[in-house]
Amino acid sequence: MAHAARPRTASPSLAPSGDMPLRRLPGVGPKVAEKFASRGMDTLQDLWLQLPRMYEDRTQLMPIRDLRPGIAAQVEGRIEAVERGFRYRPMLRVAIGDESRATLVLRFFHFRGVQVAQFVPGARLRCFGTPRPGQNGLEIVHPSYRLLDDAADAGLGDRLDPVYPAIEGIGPATLRRLIGLALERLPDDGSLELLPPALLRDAALPGLHEALLCVHRPPPDADVDALIAGTHPAQRRLALEELLAHHLSLRRQRIALQAHSASPLRATTLARQLRNGLPFALTPAQERVFAEISRDLARPVPMLRLVQGDVGSGKTVVAALAALMAVAEGRQAALMAPTELLAEQHLANLRAWLEPLGVRVAWLAGKVTGRARLAARAAVASGEAQVVVGTHALMQDGVVFQDLALAIVDEQHRFGVHQRLALRDKGGDPGAATRRVPHQLVMTATPIPRTLAMTAYADLDVSAIDTLPPGRTPVTTVVLSADRRPELVERIRAACAEGRQAYWVCTIIDDSDEVEAQAAQSTFEALAAALPGLRVALVHGRLKAVAKQAAMQAFKDGAVDLLVATTVIEVGVDVPNASLMIIENAERLGLSQLHQLRGRVGRGAAASSCVLLYQSPLSATARERLETMRQTSDGFVIAEKDLALRGPGELLGTRQTGLAAFRVADLARDADLLPVVHRIGEQLLYDAPEIADRLVARWIGGAARYADA
Ligand code: ADP
Ligand code: MG
Repeated sequence: MAHAARPRTASPSLAPSGDMPLRRLPGVGPKVAEKFASRGMDTLQDLWLQLPRMYEDRTQLMPIRDLRPGIAAQVEGRIEAVERGFRYRPMLRVAIGDESRATLVLRFFHFRGVQVAQFVPGARLRCFGTPRPGQNGLEIVHPSYRLLDDAADAGLGDRLDPVYPAIEGIGPATLRRLIGLALERLPDDGSLELLPPALLRDAALPGLHEALLCVHRPPPDADVDALIAGTHPAQRRLALEELLAHHLSLRRQRIALQAHSASPLRATTLARQLRNGLPFALTPAQERVFAEISRDLARPVPMLRLVQGDVGSGKTVVAALAALMAVAEGRQAALMAPTELLAEQHLANLRAWLEPLGVRVAWLAGKVTGRARLAARAAVASGEAQVVVGTHALMQDGVVFQDLALAIVDEQHRFGVHQRLALRDKGGDPGAATRRVPHQLVMTATPIPRTLAMTAYADLDVSAIDTLPPGRTPVTTVVLSADRRPELVERIRAACAEGRQAYWVCTIIDDSDEVEAQAAQSTFEALAAALPGLRVALVHGRLKAVAKQAAMQAFKDGAVDLLVATTVIEVGVDVPNASLMIIENAERLGLSQLHQLRGRVGRGAAASSCVLLYQSPLSATARERLETMRQTSDGFVIAEKDLALRGPGELLGTRQTGLAAFRVADLARDADLLPVVHRIGEQLLYDAPEIADRLVARWIGGAARYADA
């Protein structure tokens, strides 16, 4: 389907202004245009669709006394006290009070000297943020704030302020101004509309023009609560269109893929040999999933199957069996993982399983360099390497397979669709109109409820390994208030005295790596000081890859007793001797992420435990989340619960599920739109492919080029 996704075809009906290059806007020079371009934004339309990530209500001031935890508000007060300190981390606390005779604490973990100097007792401060329960009443961490001139009467806004996703190199004010300019050029002659009018009427949703204006510049009388919750009809209208575009793009990828051929893989000899030699029997779930894969592989059409299986459910051996199906036909299989650590684990497993059968396994990762890399690449190119294990390095240009018949990608959610496709493109002969492409198997440990899987993975068939191998000792989970932190030091000491190892995971609400790294650093220092007999190491996202790798390796080798880490350790760490995990601020993480983290322990024979530390008091939802963690370790139950609990306003979503990052849609919140999306999607696909083209180009743009298989 070569015509499928040529973005922005010069269709005469397309409003010319939507295609106008950004650099024709006043104030957009080559530099700014380049910053936009690096985000895939080239045209006016891309600015129209740069939708607010949230809103801030600065139209009123809230008395401090009326603040409620979790509800963002604007307050004004005078500085009463300033305290700068270090405990586990550097910290600045500023107390302000107002006429309601209540006090609010502003807390900064990350600040500069000039900032500190501004905060003088008596100064008038207006700030905006989301209050949370702190040690002394409510506090706001990293509020946006400004100092007010004492005499002047600073006015309030008259409408909600949109907050746009940051674009590196373009300040928020500039971005707002440019979006404003773009909106002035929004055509109102109906030329933008791509959805059937009857659909909009029936669903009581506004047209695109109205919807865009409303979300970018909410009228003063707009339903503020709905806008903040993302349920305003204007937002739902946009979400519907966005979901539709994604659905169409995925469906087309699927159709395009099936127009190609694949080599049927039917020889079962090697796979049978591996199974007979394993020290364990496959679980019924593994049997079922492998049977599904074998059926796909036997067909002359490329397989595209996702295997979901909880942490420890035994996906690797299923992947190995599939790889052997390719090898038995004299073809090659590749297994790609997102990190070196994870890839190395696969390498060790596959070598142990496959080499006794005479199968040659090659290794290609970033750290394979020089002569070793040349040799590995030569083995891949000549076909001497029958199975190739590696990281992103597998996809590099210099890597040429002799005959790749099966591409396996682990932890699919860490890779984008593009990367997955890049590996697939290593097979067959690119360039031919219909060509032979490899079968693809993707594996993920992040279970996704079935309804969502249908949309998020409309281009994939889904299998689930839904039971764990027998004999696992379940992890005991305890939920503790953070003030019991000192007891944990003892607990760590005890576990390590028995020769076990422990993880301490630091999380903080701030979204920046840097602040998170800083928090981890100070926790690391505090714990190292409190546990002088233990070997403590630190891993966070700001470390160089080599340093990260070295710390992880030392932990794996047993040379480190306690690993203090940020959530970077989430995926793929396999240290069976680790039996204790402590997660700080657990109330701030989503269920799936907690589940992934907890899956790092309970991998050996020893009884393991996971301690979830929270800051009290807990919101009702947070309490329920932690309670779910305590009660179950079933990833699918947790995924369903996660979806149910993730109500509007809980911004815990996209990062943990690994689903496509949407501009406005939220699969949990907008789930009720999915049946409509599916119905309209099928209609457009067959009856109005040119509309489908434009929808995909509009919302997904350049990325959709990859659909042009
Ligand atoms: P994951 O699905 O998280 O990738 P792995 O494939 O790493 O899980 O498997 C976890 C562990 O369970 C490995 O040590 C693996 O050898 C073992 N395992 C896999 N299948 C079985 C089984 N059927 N019975 C017993 N152990 C198994
Ligand atoms: Mg795995």
